[in-house]
Amino acid sequence: VVAVGEDGPVSFASGVSVVGVDGDDTLWRCEDHFVDAFHTLAGLLSEVADPDRLEAVLRRHEDDNLPIFGYGVKAFTLTALGVAHELYGDALPAKVSREILALGRSMLATPVELLPGAADAVAALATSHRLVLVTKGDLVDQRRKLFASGLARHFVHVEIVAEKDETAYAELLRMLDVDRSEFLMVGNSEVSDIVPVLALGSWAVHVPYPTTWIRERVEHLADHDRLARLTALTEVPDLLRG
Ligand SMILES: [Mg+2]
Repeated sequence: VVAVGEDGPVSFASGVSVVGVDGDDTLWRCEDHFVDAFHTLAGLLSEVADPDRLEAVLRRHEDDNLPIFGYGVKAFTLTALGVAHELYGDALPAKVSREILALGRSMLATPVELLPGAADAVAALATSHRLVLVTKGDLVDQRRKLFASGLARHFVHVEIVAEKDETAYAELLRMLDVDRSEFLMVGNSEVSDIVPVLALGSWAVHVPYPTTWIRERVEHLADHDRLARLTALTEVPDLLRG
């Protein structure tokens, strides 16, 4: 991606010194586990709701709970318990509660599976830029995934936030003492990794993942001078080397 400036061609993001990297579904598989968990939950609650009704009830509970519980597996587990309580009422079998808790525990113990090429891409990027992991969700679970990934040594800083919005990114850059024009974010979520970063005046690279939570998607992400769209994380080091 090359823009033509006053002094001739200028490489995309050539002034960028710090690269933020998303974790879930950018470096390692995540949303697929939630899709699997939904199917398990649908099996546990099949007596009282079909999958469509379950999805609607779950969505409504998430709307209420996200601002209070935040993101991640623990929040999902509590929400699933709330859904089971609503669907069964006082007849909720202890066995169903137990299995929902067991489902949450098993998700928190799921081995970390890096996406193809993620390790090489991060290692290559770390030779040219200061890397910061920027992720949201459970503090304990995200730290577990980072250390299990074997990639922790490539990051100069790890930021686990409640919400990846403009305020959170502005605070991160202030803390790192980095100018907005020198920061670039790479991630799969338009809502968390791209839109707030562009709004701030920084750069962004969108690397979509086939399974992305409905809350993380923007229907039509507009083109932008400071946005590049790639198909794989492995293309990012070449893009940023110009
Ligand atoms: Mg992500």
